[in-house]
Amino acid sequence: MTSNSGSINPFETAQRQVDIVAKVLNLDAGTTSILKHPKRELTVNFPVRMDDGTYRVYTGYRVQYNMARGPCKGGIRYHPQVSLDEVRALAAWMTWKCAVVNLPYGGAKGGVICDPKHMSKGELERLTRRFASEISPIIGPEMDVPAPDVYTDSQTMAWIMDTYSMERGYSVPGVVTGKPLSIGGSEGRGEATGRGVMYVVREAAKDLHLDVKKATVAIQGFGNAGSVAGNLIQKELGSKIIALSDSRGGIHNPAGLDIAAVEAHKQKTGSVVNFPGSNPVGNEEILTLDCDILVPAALENQITRDNAKGVKAKIVAEAANGPTTPEADDILFANKVTVLPDILANAGGVTVSYFEWVQDLQGYFWEVHDVNTRLEKVMSASYRAVADLAQKHGVHNRTAAYVLAIGRVTEAMRVRGIYP
Ligand code: NAD
Repeated sequence: MTSNSGSINPFETAQRQVDIVAKVLNLDAGTTSILKHPKRELTVNFPVRMDDGTYRVYTGYRVQYNMARGPCKGGIRYHPQVSLDEVRALAAWMTWKCAVVNLPYGGAKGGVICDPKHMSKGELERLTRRFASEISPIIGPEMDVPAPDVYTDSQTMAWIMDTYSMERGYSVPGVVTGKPLSIGGSEGRGEATGRGVMYVVREAAKDLHLDVKKATVAIQGFGNAGSVAGNLIQKELGSKIIALSDSRGGIHNPAGLDIAAVEAHKQKTGSVVNFPGSNPVGNEEILTLDCDILVPAALENQITRDNAKGVKAKIVAEAANGPTTPEADDILFANKVTVLPDILANAGGVTVSYFEWVQDLQGYFWEVHDVNTRLEKVMSASYRAVADLAQKHGVHNRTAAYVLAIGRVTEAMRVRGIYP
């Protein structure tokens, strides 16, 4: 899924967000300027041998935004619309996301301009290995640790880990996260994002005195993040999932949907639509259904100034990145809707990535129960910190999350001082 949204330059958006927070935190112009610029950017143009024997030159980027709090962390995406400004913005957001959940990491992002849907597995492997080799001077367990993102997966990470390891002559599992279990991946990584969403929903419901066992839930997007969140909200919180959707459309049943049965239906037919006993519902309509908890888990810019007034949920938990526009944020805040912002709500994924890296460095691997218990602690504590800050400053949770994150990065920069 791309985060390109029309003509809006995502990096300008990211820089504007820093300006807003700098005012709240009363930061000086110099500090604000550092926070608005990526520390290091690498652009590489590199050849890949295609299946027909010809060579093509691809362009890729790795941007390390800020490493005041530790090694950089962030995914690598393969997409035709990757641009340097998009990668810069995503690297900034990774910096704030890691800081919100208090991981000892800075933020980074990478991307290659390519069309993976029209490339063979062999071409993708050669592209990945050459890109890994090109960026290898600036990645590594102590420097910058990539992970999967749009159109990259655990196989991509395995190729990067192998390439980096071959160049050094020994295995370096901690160079990437999101790896297969057989080469140092972590238990619980696959469901970490959705599980994290469930934990913050549970904590927010407590604050609102909302009985989760009686709560109704609508979920837009039934991929990795949305389906795991839905499953766990139903199983572990006891809430009723009344609506779900994917790119082909949605389904609604006020009496509740059995997620496991919907998953089986999707496996068989390729979509949730036409699930027996449900009524069809549109992907826009799902956002304004009568429900207590809404989980946008698909695309960016879904809740906008045009439909925000119609949102009836008491909690909006952003499993997706950027599903709510700034204008919609203000409307939801005025209507007393509790928004759990993306950099908090979907940080479960990067948190378990951090656990994976810790396990790789120790060479000692945890059971899934340990992973989930630690994830629960991180998500609950982070929710508490954000909610308390929102209360203190009288701002919405998104601003509070940014204030918390940027405040932590600023503090690390302050105690370290400016070199030389
Ligand atoms: P995914 O590709 O597994 O799932 C996306 C789902 O959205 C699919 O079910 C797809 O059919 C559906 N979809 C596509 N277009 C839609 C539309 N117009 N309306 C409704 N549904 C639509 O992706 P994912 O990994 O679940 O990621 C979803 C969101 O969560 C993205 O914004 C991603 O950045 C964010 N996120 C994911 C993770 C993770 O670990 N998977 C971590 C952090 C953030």
